Amino acid sequence: MNKVKNANYWIEKGKQMTAERQRRIDRTKQWKFDTIATHGLYDLTEALNSNNGSIMEPVYMSPAQAYHDSGEMEAALAYQMPTWCYSRIANPSTFFLEETTALLEAYQSGVEASCVATSSGMSAIRTATDPFLVKDDSLPPPNFVASAKVYGGSFQQFWIRRRKEQGIEVRWVTNPLDLNEWESKIDEGTRFVYGEFPSNPSVALFDIEKVAEIAHAHTIPLIVDSTCASPALTRPLEFGADIVVQSASKVLSASGTSIVGLLTARKNIVSKIGTDEMKANFAIWAKLWPYRDNGPALHPMAAIMTLNDMRSLRMRIAQMSNTAIKVSEYLASHPKVGRVYYPGLENYEAYNLAKKYMKLVDGTENMFGYMLLAEINEKNDGDTANTRRFYDNLDMIWRATDLGRVKTVATLNAISTHQQQGEEGRKLASIKPNAVRIAVGIEHADDIIADLEKALSTVK
Ligand SMILES: *Cc1c(COP(=O)(O)O)cnc(C)c1O
Repeated sequence: MNKVKNANYWIEKGKQMTAERQRRIDRTKQWKFDTIATHGLYDLTEALNSNNGSIMEPVYMSPAQAYHDSGEMEAALAYQMPTWCYSRIANPSTFFLEETTALLEAYQSGVEASCVATSSGMSAIRTATDPFLVKDDSLPPPNFVASAKVYGGSFQQFWIRRRKEQGIEVRWVTNPLDLNEWESKIDEGTRFVYGEFPSNPSVALFDIEKVAEIAHAHTIPLIVDSTCASPALTRPLEFGADIVVQSASKVLSASGTSIVGLLTARKNIVSKIGTDEMKANFAIWAKLWPYRDNGPALHPMAAIMTLNDMRSLRMRIAQMSNTAIKVSEYLASHPKVGRVYYPGLENYEAYNLAKKYMKLVDGTENMFGYMLLAEINEKNDGDTANTRRFYDNLDMIWRATDLGRVKTVATLNAISTHQQQGEEGRKLASIKPNAVRIAVGIEHADDIIADLEKALSTVK
């Protein structure tokens, strides 16, 4: 029998474990993006000491952690030593995904960040925004300011769940390029500012740095959903954002195995609401308290499958971006296509912002991601006959509501992702009925263009 230790012993041991973890973080931080994505904090020592030498991070399909004795349990559940305890709070497999993500989002920025993984992108948004919308008698009733050009699911979460069901005022910014519009909508009751970079599906941008400055001048945080850029192109924390959310269901896990969300926050966020503990380390605070109580944990298998795909993120983004620009140029010059929205096109309205914020990590080259929006020519405004003809004649390209996949996918947003927000909501978000979102995959550009060509030949 092992000798029973008391809680103080385990608290001391916990300090050593924390120091050892920090040593690994410091070492990993010295590496380049691809190396961090490949190894994260999982190294030979960890493999040999805890995992039978497994060179890949094991999937811990276990709900709970066993403790040596009551002293360890007591110290662990007081959060006085590293623990995972129960898979609704934490899990060792999920931990590797979270640590890698935090390092990638804060890559070479000097920002210290931490991450909590969630069961979906939507639950990451919920986990990021809930803590700022709480009752506080010293402040006016809560409102928040958000770009209207957001993912359909986010629009619904804000407009139906927040406003209609909870009575929280949502103030839409209809032109996210207009800094005055952001500023003019903030008042004493505003709890946070929210934007998507670039937005899904209209690939709208906003000036992250300037909007962060505006938010901070009002002592509120900027939350950015940068799913459609990914940390291989844009890392909003570097430009002053306080919290970044990712739907890791998209390009981070490009082979498409799981629904996963990631919330990464800088240490010491700006907020007029919340405890010092919350502001000091938002993601870990969220994980230990509201996340534990609300239960948006993901399955450890999903965490490891996401991590596996993330290792090749930069290379995939490079390939996809190179193809997406070719596809955009092809479509932009096609007589049956009207406007094409892609941040890499020189006539794109926010091309200057795209050049500032979208660069392939560890290089100097601008790259602009995998997503573009094209408007198919119709006889009259509001018609969709040609758009449907084009869409229904795609052969290799998938008709689905998906993006960031290794396989090219096309979506008619007005009848899918943005159907439920209605005509008025679509107008707010500038979603036209003849708009097709194309999320370019990793196939050869020639084959993608050939498929588009064939489908466009059916347009009258
Ligand atoms: C898909 C998506 C979400 C929602 O993510 P899920 O993982 O599907 O819940 C949020 N934001 C953006 C920009 C998205 O594309």
